[in-house]
Amino acid sequence: MSEKYDLIIRNAVIHTMDQDRRMIDRGSLAVKGDMIAKIEQGDLPEQDAAGQVIDADGMILFPGFVDTHIHIFQSFLKGLGADHRLIEWLNLSALPYGTVMTPRQHELAARLACMEALKSGCTAICEFFYTNQDPELAYACIEGMRSTGIRSVFIRTFQDTGEEYGMPSIFIEPAEKAMREVASLKKRCKEDDMLTIWTGPDVTWSTTKEGYRTMLEYCMSENVRYSMHLKETEVDNEMCLRNYGKDIVDLLEEIGFLTDKMLAVHCVNLTERDIRRFADYGVSISHNPAPNLYLGSGIPPIPESLLAGVNVSLGTDGAASNNSTDMLETMKLAALIQKGIHRDASVITADQVIRMAACGGAKAIGMEDQVGTLAAGKKADMILFDPRHLKSFPNHDAEATVVYASSEENIDTTIVNGEVVYHKGDFAGGLSEAELIREIAAEVEKMKASL
Ligand SMILES: [Zn+2]
Repeated sequence: MSEKYDLIIRNAVIHTMDQDRRMIDRGSLAVKGDMIAKIEQGDLPEQDAAGQVIDADGMILFPGFVDTHIHIFQSFLKGLGADHRLIEWLNLSALPYGTVMTPRQHELAARLACMEALKSGCTAICEFFYTNQDPELAYACIEGMRSTGIRSVFIRTFQDTGEEYGMPSIFIEPAEKAMREVASLKKRCKEDDMLTIWTGPDVTWSTTKEGYRTMLEYCMSENVRYSMHLKETEVDNEMCLRNYGKDIVDLLEEIGFLTDKMLAVHCVNLTERDIRRFADYGVSISHNPAPNLYLGSGIPPIPESLLAGVNVSLGTDGAASNNSTDMLETMKLAALIQKGIHRDASVITADQVIRMAACGGAKAIGMEDQVGTLAAGKKADMILFDPRHLKSFPNHDAEATVVYASSEENIDTTIVNGEVVYHKGDFAGGLSEAELIREIAAEVEKMKASL
């Protein structure tokens, strides 16, 4: 019998997460190459045989989640600077260690973070990279991401000021130079469906007005998307108010920076007016509840943003302020903190949270036509969720189970671009968790010695 498809998943409860919220009990999904070719109720006819068949009896098929904000190198720094607020924490962990880590360490950190992401249901991840003292570091990080088979957005950011807040001088460079580096990285790494390279200012206190303008000019002329940390704490606005006499969102609007190419991260202190402008200009938000709580930064107005029509996605942020890369935990926090602070259990629902993680993430990375829901013609990025574990059983409501009662052990299989990259504890490409942990343990010692 000839094989019509490369992969068939049968007997699954398929949650398409499409606009009609179509759910198929005991359905089949067929993959051809990197695409979803067919989704049907029941079994596919025998002539539709595939090279690989996964019997998903008892499992739920979801679109993969998109982690829209992480700093991969921080996977080496879990717990450092614990129990301090943002600026003190930065100066105890991310900034000093970011100056000494080697390309090999960045590559291993990328493997660690991306493997953990795949294991918690992510099929795509956005790396916000700011240790730009040596172009080899960015290249090594990208190689590490690619080796895991995850879909990657690599955001090569820049800082053109910020020493007074502790930004190490070796990170600081003129925006023109940074844009030349972005262009050369794009050339060297050859973008495709699996890797996109963006840029962005790191934070408001490390960017000049000229820096924003230079970057914006580059992004508009080359059609490049961009991201930045925005209104994470009150410090974010301080330098802007002092130097330019303006709120940062006002300044960004004035220079034409608020566009649908922009992904704004954190947004803890967004005002009602900011939210309206984000909705008008099509700016997406990356909501990172774990670091917002861990660093005592606060709780962003997410239900208000959703209500205004802003696209909201979810991120884990660097593992030094989380302290992991666990999207399932992020989803639970995203739901619970809003219910608590609003004293209203219905202010955000499990369905909305899964949508932020899947469809919201897809839109935030500009790939809503390709990923984020399950439909024929879309990229085959999806996960099989097995509810048959103590924490999550019995499963009366799949969305509620995923958001409120799940952990890594529920993720049975992760498929990216039609490839099974994680299945029942094993990673593709010969990647071994135990071996990676051994290698990282040795490198962490070297990193600490070099500081
Ligand atoms: Zn961040």
